[in-house]
Amino acid sequence: MIGYVILFGLLLGACYWIINPLLQEDVRRYGFTQKPEDILQALKNKKNGAYATIRELEFDLSMGKLDEEDFQILKRQYTQEAVGYMKEMDKLESLQATFSKSVDTVFEEKIEQGVAEIRNHESTARKYIYCTSCGEKARVERRFCAACGANLDKHRKNYLQEEN
Ligand SMILES: [Zn+2]
Repeated sequence: MIGYVILFGLLLGACYWIINPLLQEDVRRYGFTQKPEDILQALKNKKNGAYATIRELEFDLSMGKLDEEDFQILKRQYTQEAVGYMKEMDKLESLQATFSKSVDTVFEEKIEQGVAEIRNHESTARKYIYCTSCGEKARVERRFCAACGANLDKHRKNYLQEEN
């Protein structure tokens, strides 16, 4: 019986020693203890590191230490790495921007966007086509000409194609 208790204790201890470093790693990686500015700076450093590496690769290529094919593969790899850092920086910066704005400003911007959406919708709704049978102006969403009754579908298709 005592053997089981000791075994259980040992297992518990093992679990703690395995899980605790993982939690610590989470804190490091996801920056619970880091300031956004520090994370941004770290990302910037990594990005600049990738730039410098690409420059070194260019140099190695020009010195003949690297063949074109390897150069392209490595360059793509480091470019993608830099793109990743830039995306992370972008996310962080927009998050920072959101939090630094007052709630009112954020809402005001949303309202502005909403109004702009309606404005855009109106500008498409107010497009006109001209009937090719009689020349009368008709709203683009109409199927038939109000003046002569001609089918406007065909003209609308042309019109929309021109628009696109
Ligand atoms: Zn007509």
